[in-house]
Amino acid sequence: MANAVLCSFVQLPPSLSLSLPTASSRRQTSTMPDGSDRSSAPAPTLRARRSAAPATASVLGTVPTLADDDATATPKLWRGTTLGHNPSAHLAVAQVEREPLSWSRVKWPSATVLVVSPFLALYWGLTTPLATKTLIWSILFYAICATGVTAGYHRLWAHRAYSAAWPYRLWMALAGAGSIQGSIRWWARGHRAHHRFTDTDKDPYSAQRGLLWSHFLWMLFNPDRAVRVAQRQVDMADLDADPIVRYQHQYYAPISIFMGLVFPTLVAGYGWGDFWGGFVWAGWVRMVLLHHATFCVNSLAHYLGEATYDDRRSPRDHFLTALVTMGEGMHNFHHEFPNDYRNAIRWHEWDPTKIVIYLASLIGLTYDLKTFPDNEVQKGRLIMQQKRLDKWRAKLDWGVPVESLPAWSVDRWHEELKLNPMMLVIDGVALDVSLFIHDHPGGTKWIKLYLGKDATRAFNGGIYMHATAARNLMSRLRVARVDGLVPDEAATKASDGTSAMQD
Ligand SMILES: [Zn+2]
Ligand SMILES: [Zn+2]
Repeated sequence: MANAVLCSFVQLPPSLSLSLPTASSRRQTSTMPDGSDRSSAPAPTLRARRSAAPATASVLGTVPTLADDDATATPKLWRGTTLGHNPSAHLAVAQVEREPLSWSRVKWPSATVLVVSPFLALYWGLTTPLATKTLIWSILFYAICATGVTAGYHRLWAHRAYSAAWPYRLWMALAGAGSIQGSIRWWARGHRAHHRFTDTDKDPYSAQRGLLWSHFLWMLFNPDRAVRVAQRQVDMADLDADPIVRYQHQYYAPISIFMGLVFPTLVAGYGWGDFWGGFVWAGWVRMVLLHHATFCVNSLAHYLGEATYDDRRSPRDHFLTALVTMGEGMHNFHHEFPNDYRNAIRWHEWDPTKIVIYLASLIGLTYDLKTFPDNEVQKGRLIMQQKRLDKWRAKLDWGVPVESLPAWSVDRWHEELKLNPMMLVIDGVALDVSLFIHDHPGGTKWIKLYLGKDATRAFNGGIYMHATAARNLMSRLRVARVDGLVPDEAATKASDGTSAMQD
């Protein structure tokens, strides 16, 4: 069983992966005369027919290769959108046809373990007493292993958000292996592809394929060819240069068995005589909970929460995902600023991982902690707030814009008054007050006084300095622009004792 667990999270070598093409991929692939690996024209599909350039990588069946980076190629999306000559933009957003899921693509060890392990955790959990010391140890070991993934696998190795001395890297490599989520190398490669191709079919766990897919179904199947190609394009030079990463990858199976299941069992067993409890709670149950907490970063963190810094892609910020993942839930921030060692920057956002990294820096274990310029972070937040304000504003009735109103001369104004005498002018704009006159908070008297006249000065302090609410409401009564009328003072002076007209 343990071997199966391990195998389930070890990436198949490319040669093995390529030896298992689906029937559809076999049909579509051929060798071009120049020897390059290009696809033959697939059977026409709606997507293919929509594309004006069936030989580009964005069309069904074509094989994205490094040649796709050729800036001279005409980048076209399958939707027919041209992206100019930005090859990276082309690759980042290009959609490719998904290969159909079939039984032949199932990775049986992964599927078996991922489906069975939660049920075993439930059964063993219900039938195994939980001693207090074992509970404390389980929580502590959960935090240790989770930090191995968040601070080590993710922020240190996948994103190079900081650097670390070898004792720290060794600790993180062991702790991360204890989470039994694959080797650093396998994990970081998939994650770098996820960031580069977020929300496209080249993203190994694209949120666009559904919540369950991004949560764990993606691990049950051999990846689409486009994903395998995308992963092979990932620059792994820095990881391959780290001996700790190399050895952890090479000996991942025994290391993760020991760290994930044996070590917690031994601690509980030799510590307070609870071998079986240590295996079940600190080993197995803790492993399953940590699996699904981490998987939530790929699933829930791309569905649930707020697009604080950018809403063009699916990552979201949410406290709940941050809580169970040692602070990885501020995922919108993270996708915008991936090489920032923090995932949360506001005081109320939960991110214990950044505290671990920071505290380690105080004693020299970590260094070169990267942070994105606050000026740029604020720009992102401001732009999103502006978008929300604009949406809100668009829902409200602001009346006809002044510049869109018909222009009336003074003569036309007097002509129109014969048809509708319930009008007055404020700030050069004729307002139809017929429906409003009886709702005027100051009484109908003042409006009647100015019907057919220019009430600009009276409105702006002559009689009363109207509030912004009055000005907003006034905008919905607009009828036309009137040029040449003179504000009427006589009416105000003629009123009963109020002649406080301002000059
Ligand atoms: Zn993500
Ligand atoms: Zn990341």
